[in-house]
Amino acid sequence: MQDTYRHKGLRRNLVDELKLKGISDQKVLDAIYAVPRHFFMDSGFINFAYKDSAFPIGAGQTISQPYTVAFQTQLLTIQPLEKVLEIGTGSGYQTAVLMEMGAKVYTIERQKELYIKAKAQLEAMGYHPHFFYGDGYLGMPSYGPYSKIIITAGAPEIPAMLIEQLQIGGKLISPVGDKLGQVMTLAEKVSETETIITQHGNFIFVPLLKGTKQ
Ligand code: SAH
Repeated sequence: MQDTYRHKGLRRNLVDELKLKGISDQKVLDAIYAVPRHFFMDSGFINFAYKDSAFPIGAGQTISQPYTVAFQTQLLTIQPLEKVLEIGTGSGYQTAVLMEMGAKVYTIERQKELYIKAKAQLEAMGYHPHFFYGDGYLGMPSYGPYSKIIITAGAPEIPAMLIEQLQIGGKLISPVGDKLGQVMTLAEKVSETETIITQHGNFIFVPLLKGTKQ
């Protein structure tokens, strides 16, 4: 697959669209411009890669809408070299955006098929996060604590084990709700026992599920 001037032009337009929709962090916009989203799409949808929409990626899952990726990333205020734990690798697109911002990413996917596909795709593009096939509900305590945690599936509530793996001063972003809709929720861990929760609008994600799938 190639990343042509035409693709870069379409990405420039997408960035302009995201700016109009309220994304203002230039580092996030630069990362969206840098990552060729069409590399992460199923063949039937490649021509729509720069539409601001979610699309199927197989195994009943979706690649998130660029606006949603940008919005979650912006709320996390990613700094270079920060350790970021991502729950729900999916296509790997959000992973690539985090890596373009200089984060050290640890990413977990519960579906074997998607884990294998995203790992191959990201490595072929020169992105080398730490990949795990497993249940993100449990996080990855052996590599923690993390300065940021991003959940890219709708969680019924923020898993307590993930808050435990957040460093003090760290932030976790997650859509929280049921399958009909979720509220984008930011949890900031201000001390070992205190977390400040703020809400940032309505979204619809595929659900965060327990356990793994072969
Ligand atoms: N950021 C991804 C979004 C993928 S959709 C992208 O843009 O492509 C959400 C993903 O979360 C799906 O791949 C789903 O299989 C995964 N998922 C759901 N529950 C999970 C869990 N408990 N642990 C890890 N991954 C999970």
